[in-house]
Amino acid sequence: MKNETIKKGMITLSKKLFPICRSITGNGLRQTLNIIQEHIPIKIFEVPSGTKVFDWSIPREWNIHDAYIKDSKGKKIIDFKKSNLHVVGYSVPVKKKMPFNGLREHLHYIPEKPKWIPYITSYYKEEWGFCLSYEQYKKLKNGVYEVNIDSELKTGALSYGELFIPGKVKDEILLTTYVCHPSLANDNLSGALLLTFLAETITEASRKYSYRFLFVPETIGAIAWIAKNQEKLKNIKYGLVATCVGDRGSYTYKKTRAGDSYLDRVVMNVLKNSGEQHTIVDFFPAGSDERQFSSPGINLPMGSLMRTMYGKFPEYHTSADNLDFISPESLLGSYEHYRDIIYVLENDGYYLNLNPKCEPMLGNRGLYNVGKKPECSEEEEIALRWVLNFSDGRHSLLDISNKSGINFRIIKRVADRLIKSDLLKETLDFTKK
Ligand code: ZN
Repeated sequence: MKNETIKKGMITLSKKLFPICRSITGNGLRQTLNIIQEHIPIKIFEVPSGTKVFDWSIPREWNIHDAYIKDSKGKKIIDFKKSNLHVVGYSVPVKKKMPFNGLREHLHYIPEKPKWIPYITSYYKEEWGFCLSYEQYKKLKNGVYEVNIDSELKTGALSYGELFIPGKVKDEILLTTYVCHPSLANDNLSGALLLTFLAETITEASRKYSYRFLFVPETIGAIAWIAKNQEKLKNIKYGLVATCVGDRGSYTYKKTRAGDSYLDRVVMNVLKNSGEQHTIVDFFPAGSDERQFSSPGINLPMGSLMRTMYGKFPEYHTSADNLDFISPESLLGSYEHYRDIIYVLENDGYYLNLNPKCEPMLGNRGLYNVGKKPECSEEEEIALRWVLNFSDGRHSLLDISNKSGINFRIIKRVADRLIKSDLLKETLDFTKK
């Protein structure tokens, strides 16, 4: 798929998915998975309410039809139909008249961000509430208000989507994202957009590794998947959590728990070679689903490549994290970084110089940059020397890219050329390591 097609596709999909009221269970989540299924053949799984998953149990299913606050004249002053962020996620149903004094303790707003509606949930404590902008809050006067939250909290199921793309080896790369947030774009519609198109790309490409994509509600969904799929964990070599990949900020890579894993070196190589500004942060046990996958009993090397990290942009968990906050170019850039990471994982390996005593004569083999019509560019010629010198069976192509500062794709390209010229042979394919 061409980059332009991907960019347009992500934007079209974002417009379809953004308005849906999602939560950790319920029809909004199901509808989201169904729409993703129109692009990639995910299987949708339903885990019944009450199922024990390690120390947790699947909560009752939450669905909401409508919600509002009316003033004493019967005018709707807060309306769920205008923004699904107006209702605290998992609010229990309520329908009553109450004075402002009583209502006030159920209202959430941010005085420092007077135009934005906060995103608040109460999954495990029975509660109800409304979120509104501080400007809306300030207009409320003493008097009687009618509140109505037409929601249901019933035995049902937690839904998640999974796509397994088999490769030549059974070792897997895991790519996960969460699909439980309502109308919020960067956190984390962006992750679902990126992974949907990445899965499409990987399906079409030839590949060595197998790939597993998860679209789960955050925390409880990841825990449920791990609990139900413990026998699959042994095949997972590396994983990435895709979140906050659509804003215009520079990249942030949250390293794996070990902090020095092979995946960390791959991602840092891609970031460095992109020439774009980026920040590397060490693993910390908060954030997204890397917390579950990197818990001590699971301990998978899970990193997370983001743009601006959750909690670090003022729009985070507010109505200002909308479709204007993300950009098609940023989404595409993030997608390309994920694609480049996969390229390195797929193509790294150890090679051996078959002419190790002094340099081979490159000119004889059409590998030398001659005059006006270079048979290989100057950069490729430099790359050739790096590959020949360090292909001693102890340095992988990634090591050589890191040492030379030359893009991994160029290193791989010249390695292939050297193989054709019988100057190099592959001794270990990393996917077989
Ligand atoms: Zn969030």
